Amino acid sequence: MSATAELYLDANATTPVLPAALSAAQNAMTEAYGNPSSVHCAGLRAKALMESVRASARRVLGAGDGKVLFVSGATEGIQTAVLSALVALRERRARGEPIGSTLLYGATEHKAVPETLKHWNQLLGLNLEVKALPVDSDGRHDLSWLREQAPACALLATMAANNETGVVSDLPGLEAVLNDSGSAALWLVDGVQALGKLPLMLAATRIDYAPFSGHKLYAPKGVGLLYVRAGAPYTPLMAGGGQEGGLRSGTESMSSIAALGAVLNALEAGDTFTSRQTQGQYREQLAAALRDAFPGIVFNAPFELTLPTTLNFSVPGFASKELLDLFDAAQMRVSSGSACSANKALPSFVLEAMQLPAWRAASAVRLSFGPAAEPAFIEEACRRIRACGQALRRSALLRGEELCPAESGVYQFNAEGACCWLLTDAASQSCIIIDPLEELALRLETQIRSRDYRVLAILDTHSHADHASPRLALLERLRDRLADNADTADTLGWPDTRARRTLRDGRAVPVLTLGEQTLAKLPLPGHTADSVAYLLNDSHAFVGDTVLIGGLGRTDFVSSSARALFESLHSLAAVVSETTLLCPAHDYDFQFATTLAAEKAAGGLLAQVLCPRAPLSVEQFITEKTKADQGLNPPGSAQLLCGATRCQGNNDEQARHIQPEQLAAFLAHHPDVLWLDVREAHEHALGKSDPLRAETRNVPLTRLAEQMAQLLKEPRPLLLVCRSGSRSHKAAQALRRLGLTRIWDLAGGLAHYPPVYSQE
Ligand code: PLP
Repeated sequence: MSATAELYLDANATTPVLPAALSAAQNAMTEAYGNPSSVHCAGLRAKALMESVRASARRVLGAGDGKVLFVSGATEGIQTAVLSALVALRERRARGEPIGSTLLYGATEHKAVPETLKHWNQLLGLNLEVKALPVDSDGRHDLSWLREQAPACALLATMAANNETGVVSDLPGLEAVLNDSGSAALWLVDGVQALGKLPLMLAATRIDYAPFSGHKLYAPKGVGLLYVRAGAPYTPLMAGGGQEGGLRSGTESMSSIAALGAVLNALEAGDTFTSRQTQGQYREQLAAALRDAFPGIVFNAPFELTLPTTLNFSVPGFASKELLDLFDAAQMRVSSGSACSANKALPSFVLEAMQLPAWRAASAVRLSFGPAAEPAFIEEACRRIRACGQALRRSALLRGEELCPAESGVYQFNAEGACCWLLTDAASQSCIIIDPLEELALRLETQIRSRDYRVLAILDTHSHADHASPRLALLERLRDRLADNADTADTLGWPDTRARRTLRDGRAVPVLTLGEQTLAKLPLPGHTADSVAYLLNDSHAFVGDTVLIGGLGRTDFVSSSARALFESLHSLAAVVSETTLLCPAHDYDFQFATTLAAEKAAGGLLAQVLCPRAPLSVEQFITEKTKADQGLNPPGSAQLLCGATRCQGNNDEQARHIQPEQLAAFLAHHPDVLWLDVREAHEHALGKSDPLRAETRNVPLTRLAEQMAQLLKEPRPLLLVCRSGSRSHKAAQALRRLGLTRIWDLAGGLAHYPPVYSQE
């Protein structure tokens, strides 16, 4: 196993094709390419091949006298099974027979099952109630709930093993409940994750339908199997030339069937795949490496109830997406257990159904390997997992035995649109937190302890309406790290200080000293009565929700005043420069920070207030602001927007994405280009970011606001890169918004280049 190769640990999503399967497919495409429906010799040979694969499938599945059909995959198998069952139910109902009233599916089923049930239930006009069968905290079906519901159940769908957690269902237990309750329900068991991993003796059970997908077990995508119990109702999904004995029309995908045959042969021969016991040993090795790397790790399903090939875990303080980025940087492909949308990581519905704490559902990662995994592969995976833990420790994101060096910086953390800022100074080993967030409390504490900072203050910019500030709790947590006057009675956390600084407009305001810099407090009432800004020298102004990026904070709270905001905007403009970075308490559009110059160029309300020729009067401002606030969601609604933003991409956005095939020409045109890797420092350390050049500067998104001013002065053209092209695109947009013109981003990200893994 090469120390730099990509390690694919997402076998529950799909697997590579087994070499024997590949050559069987190739043979079926080039030599034995006949159509199995043809009656000539080429056709007969193809038919013989197909039937031998079917015979092998029958043995592997224990199909007895049931039917085994070739289909395109599990999703088609599920359609066919559900259609068959519902058509039969509709016929029975038409004959006046009782059929029950519900279609039940396990709450952790793959979406293909509930969506198919709803689809055909509606299309066929059955209008049965579609209900989720709950699972317990181990992910197993609630059998006592089922016992009560079984008599009214027309069709039950329960997977054999779960794709996210690997939890193996208690199929005998489910069957006993159906039998004991006298239920006439038909039974669909999604066997996708069980094939090749669990013994299947389908004909010895009550199971009516069982779909499988070849690509989950080293066959190509686009081929699958459907088992139908002898005597179970059947309606073809596809009509046509009458292939598969009229049960599934369409010329069979012979190359894929041949490949699946090679996999089934390997399963039967027992010479290619590891035993469950060996898989269990691999899991122990991986789990040990994970525990070493991430000491607080929690496994989300008990090992004794899961397939040994699936490990689902959460790490306190880390979102799934962050862990996925980390593993990806070490060239390990795992799956985030939760889906990510633009602004928000959606928690895993499987873990939610298990009623695990919200943080676990939002932090879940699935690591899965296939039964063909070899010892060297597992060993290399363990080595890299430990390297991931080490990289996090070096970035002070996990506590290690040794302290990390202090750094000077302005760090920005974003949680669901809200921003928290950490200002640090290396020489004095001190820091200040602005607008702390509950979700980030652990991260802040780890940073502070790992770099041994003294906390000078924990500040809020105003009383937040959309979340409770964890300021007091954090003070408590960090009590041993606090500077003497950090814990104060001031409601926003400003320490008792006598030092003053005179601002540009001549006003003297209180300041805190952070190393060589000062942080001044400037009252800015408007958004709320207690709103303030904190000015870090002239470089950054932490403006809370007074100024958002492309907009202003709302003024329809009880303590708001549009009139006061008008005055505050003038106050702010009088004390900051055009290029001071205005760092907000919310960043809904991933623009990081703004400047007065950018806001003026954007032409919003702030620009109109500050317009030198015809500025808005206070009365005009109040009218306009009231109108703007009416377009926002009302205080108290689900996600409260704290102000309006209006950030649109530039017209030439598309031209600024460098497609992989354009890169060489781009570099020839811009030989002096400066590569910027916007991944976090630990990702940068694990995976060399520049597939073509040695020198790439790392500007993580968490420190983009810190470095924006410097980047705006950069004479060289910039090319931004990240893992998938998404973060670099956002960063490039943000910098362009601030006026940088010679900036491009690498479309599709590093994913399009050969993996490079740094072994340091
Ligand atoms: N059922 C389960 C448990 C799965 O894991 C999957 C795929 O992830 C499917 C069904 C759907 O399979 P396919 O997309 O191959 O049709």
